Amino acid sequence: FVRALDTIVDAFQSAQAHADKVHLVFEDERLTFADVRRQALSVAQRLKSDFGIAQGDRVAIAMRNFPEFVAAFWGAAVLGAIVVPLNSWWTGSELHYAIRDSGAELVFADEERIERLSCAEDAATGLAVVGVRTQAGDVAFENLANGRRLGEAEFAVLGPDDPVTILYTSGTTGRPKGALGTSRGTIVSIMNMGFMAARAALIGGHTPASVQPASLAVAPLFHVGGIASIVGGAMSGLKIVLMRRWNVEEGLALAEREQVTSLGGTPTIARQILEHPDLEKFKLQVNAFAMGGASVPPDLPQQALEAFGASVQLLNGYGATETTSGVVGNVGSEYAEHLDSVGRPNPTTDLRVVDPHGCPLSTGEIGELCFRSPQIVKGYWNNPAATRAAFVDGWYHSGDLGYVDGDGFVYVVDRLKDVVIRGGENVYSAEVEAVLFEHPEVADVAVVGVPERAMGERVCAVVVPRPGFQPRLDELRSFTGARLAAFKCPEALYLTGDVPRTATGKIAKKVLREEVANNTAKIQQLW
Ligand code: ATP
Repeated sequence: FVRALDTIVDAFQSAQAHADKVHLVFEDERLTFADVRRQALSVAQRLKSDFGIAQGDRVAIAMRNFPEFVAAFWGAAVLGAIVVPLNSWWTGSELHYAIRDSGAELVFADEERIERLSCAEDAATGLAVVGVRTQAGDVAFENLANGRRLGEAEFAVLGPDDPVTILYTSGTTGRPKGALGTSRGTIVSIMNMGFMAARAALIGGHTPASVQPASLAVAPLFHVGGIASIVGGAMSGLKIVLMRRWNVEEGLALAEREQVTSLGGTPTIARQILEHPDLEKFKLQVNAFAMGGASVPPDLPQQALEAFGASVQLLNGYGATETTSGVVGNVGSEYAEHLDSVGRPNPTTDLRVVDPHGCPLSTGEIGELCFRSPQIVKGYWNNPAATRAAFVDGWYHSGDLGYVDGDGFVYVVDRLKDVVIRGGENVYSAEVEAVLFEHPEVADVAVVGVPERAMGERVCAVVVPRPGFQPRLDELRSFTGARLAAFKCPEALYLTGDVPRTATGKIAKKVLREEVANNTAKIQQLW
């Protein structure tokens, strides 16, 4: 009898197939799958015997990308506890908000997070904190339970649809909501990633390297993509190279040292890698370059092809916390032919585009993208109103506007809430941003609407200039005017040193709109 890989516990068990391979690399530390398993079982034993953690209890993790994140995740997961990874950039009160909201009674936290948690005025009460990498000298994870480890007979007996994670959405639209993810969603999302890679190989003529697959974890582990790499890593024998914090120099050096085969990240990180002046000097073994999580300007995949050669497997992945990572993907040579598309839905995903009344639209018509898939989460924890609004008759309403072309390729044009409505005409910010990115004086850009009486809103380009340049509004207008209809061209320019982004790489448009509104003197405008 061979069990199907249905639950998170099965995923944990599957790592035994590559027990002796290196799994986690962090600075000088190297842990094999067997090492991580030992740590996880010690953690599980301690959670059970000292804290009484059982199936369905919530266990939070608030730390940087340390190896202990992975052991804490599995230690809780094998007990059937629901893991609540917390954004490590949150302040103390944001951390406590999610701890209270999820009802977590225990949190694994590193020194910085412990400090933030203890300084917050509105601290959650009765919270147990297990310190990780604190100066006080933690008990090593392996010895957490005085050498005792949880036995397999004590693993939780779970069903595929039992919850395994509460992942807080990045909060570009308000208070973070806890998306309740399942074993099925997590495992299916990983299998679909495998499918995408296989399809890329099929259509792109790519030959996988014979070395162990290795990926540089540029994104935080607390994000849905991080959880996918932990669980997918266990299933596939992936080596994950962790970094304390992202830095392009260090990242490239590590990618060289560890022979990383898969690189990439959010468009911001991808751009830093691809535009690094010494990229060619690093001896890289990269055979896959994946981008996503936010709108990917079409010049990026082109740059990736130039940097890594035509055989590199390109991927643009579209998904959300609510869809347990990617549900649509653009891969290989298809991507090269549809540079501004996010690709096609994966095989377990239905997609439909609807109008504001929920009525399905036809090919080419722009509306809200809605998804139905085993990857869709069960809803928002502790938030029935938000759940009812976003999950309707089995369809997840993404809040993204887009369309599907005649060949089934999906195009995301904007977030519903970020569309600039100028005199009744919709201007999709991602479209204008993609054009402005091509301007040689623009290092980074975001397009937002600024309120104005005559038009309702005007298009404002928030631009970070390349060093030594001072882009002018009239120049940017004529540059965009050659490529876009006049009503889409920026009528206002706001120069800044930095475009604010969320922890997952998305432009924080709400923050940006407020910043621009509070600094009207800095806006160059035509009206
Ligand atoms: P909140 O719901 O609080 O606003 P969020 O939706 O920003 O948070 P995530 O779940 O991390 O949090 O992000 C999902 C969103 O990211 C998608 O709905 C989409 O707008 C955007 N996105 C993800 N991948 C892509 C991509 N490849 N291209 C364009 N947009 C993308």
